[in-house]
Amino acid sequence: MRRTIRNLIRKPVSHNIVDSGMVYGYIHEHKVPKSPIYRDPFGYYYISLGHFLDALLGRLSSRYTQYAQEIYYSFDRDEFIRLFEEKFGLHYRGADNTYNFDNDLDQGFNFELFVNDKDDEYLLIRTHNGCDIRWGYTEPYVFHVYEAERVYYCSLEVYCPVCCMTFSKYDIDSDDFKEDSQGFVVHNTCGTRVLIGNDVVEDYLELRLGDGEI
Ligand SMILES: [Zn+2]
Repeated sequence: MRRTIRNLIRKPVSHNIVDSGMVYGYIHEHKVPKSPIYRDPFGYYYISLGHFLDALLGRLSSRYTQYAQEIYYSFDRDEFIRLFEEKFGLHYRGADNTYNFDNDLDQGFNFELFVNDKDDEYLLIRTHNGCDIRWGYTEPYVFHVYEAERVYYCSLEVYCPVCCMTFSKYDIDSDDFKEDSQGFVVHNTCGTRVLIGNDVVEDYLELRLGDGEI
């Protein structure tokens, strides 16, 4: 994982008296996972945000990042977008937060898409390093990105390596699958253990049922 991204996802953020970080600890106080896909002690599977961003994002734009950091929190949203577009000849395409949709990342982030006249895509990223979702975001970092829509490919998928078929994680309870004697999930059609993983980070593990849900 690149140092820029490792630093971004573990940057200390301000603590707030009304958030719950004091109780549960802040993300920046936890270690970065070693593997892109991992299973926590309760049996839940996650995609590591650091590995996801590392695979998704291209190079950091120092020029865009420096200016974004200078003005991001000094103006309201419309004014920030206008100034940022004007300075670099960019066009704003929209913003979203992983908090708004189903995903399996172990840490959230906010993103905003800008494109230039040649349709080169730039994602402005602020990762959520605090505890309460309303606070605890880093300052913005702007990266060149290929296929920006892959930012939404942040859910776990179930895959049978023999049949080359991909399934939703919600299908695991269906009759297409059963559990073997060691607790791994097997595809009924071919008798093979299925994998759980994510296309962006290109990492897959054998899927084991446990105390937790997927
Ligand atoms: Zn199969």
